[in-house]
Amino acid sequence: MGKIIDGKVMSERLRDKINKEVSAFTKDYGRPPGLAVILVGEDPASSVYVRNKERACKNAGIISFDHRLPTETSLTELTSLVKELNLRQDVDGILVQLPLPHHIKTDQVLMSIEPTKDVDGFHPYNLGRLLMGLPTVIPCTPRGIMYMLEAYGVDPDGKDTVVIGRSNIVGKPIATLLTLAHATVTVCHSHTKNLEEKVRNADILVSAAGRPHMVKGSWIKPGAVVIDVGITRDKDGRLSGDVDFETAKDRASLITPVPGGVGPMTIVMLLMNTIMLAKGHVA
Ligand code: NAD
Repeated sequence: MGKIIDGKVMSERLRDKINKEVSAFTKDYGRPPGLAVILVGEDPASSVYVRNKERACKNAGIISFDHRLPTETSLTELTSLVKELNLRQDVDGILVQLPLPHHIKTDQVLMSIEPTKDVDGFHPYNLGRLLMGLPTVIPCTPRGIMYMLEAYGVDPDGKDTVVIGRSNIVGKPIATLLTLAHATVTVCHSHTKNLEEKVRNADILVSAAGRPHMVKGSWIKPGAVVIDVGITRDKDGRLSGDVDFETAKDRASLITPVPGGVGPMTIVMLLMNTIMLAKGHVA
């Protein structure tokens, strides 16, 4: 059986380091780092994510300024709030939880965030810098994945790597980071033909499709490293990843479980990005 990459344990270890950094920052600057968290509407999954993020901030000593807006909030109202937060000295990072209600243009909201406060790294300026390999705010989930690979001694250099998913928040940035780390990256998506054949060739597989158990254990190349980003909640409330963990774990050399893999690392990277922005260490 392959080794399990325990994102929960790894994130708890990192939290000690984060607590120390937050204490040092608070002493040096006379205030704690501040993260503004905006949730529009009442999507149940988003409400859970936002609550977890706010709790993680509080536990780390980061102030979270929580904004709950009704579903019918207009684009102008939302961007006005963002612009107000852009000007506040006590707000270092601004997070707008996605997805937004359909009537709000997500791109315009993301572009209204000051790039130096763009804690998720979704602003085109920061995504562009990422593409160019320049220092930037790296989106939390991809940053967490790269951290896990490094911690487990997985060097992407020269590896055949398959990324399933091409979203702006996971698929594209992780494909970019892996390319910058010299992997040979194949990006697969809903129009890809013969997904199984592509996956069978992967030394490293990152799956971010949101299709539970889509990747079968028999598709995994023996010894491959498998990072499962997908999170789907079934009708009984159980979480599943994209990869059929039970059959894949015997073929993979390293594999992340769901839950307890990528998810906890994403939250910790949010805290690390907030501290980085608070210190002014961005482009
Ligand atoms: P998304 O819906 O924006 O993108 C999904 C991508 O998967 C698309 O590019 C689509 O083309 C591709 N896809 C869908 N069905 C496919 C199929 N049958 N074959 C191949 N490709 C297919 O989603 P997202 O925001 O990128 O998130 C992806 C998944 O990761 C979701 O389950 C989400 O909940 C999860 N997620 C987890 C974390 C975490 O912290 N663990 C963070 C972000 C997203």
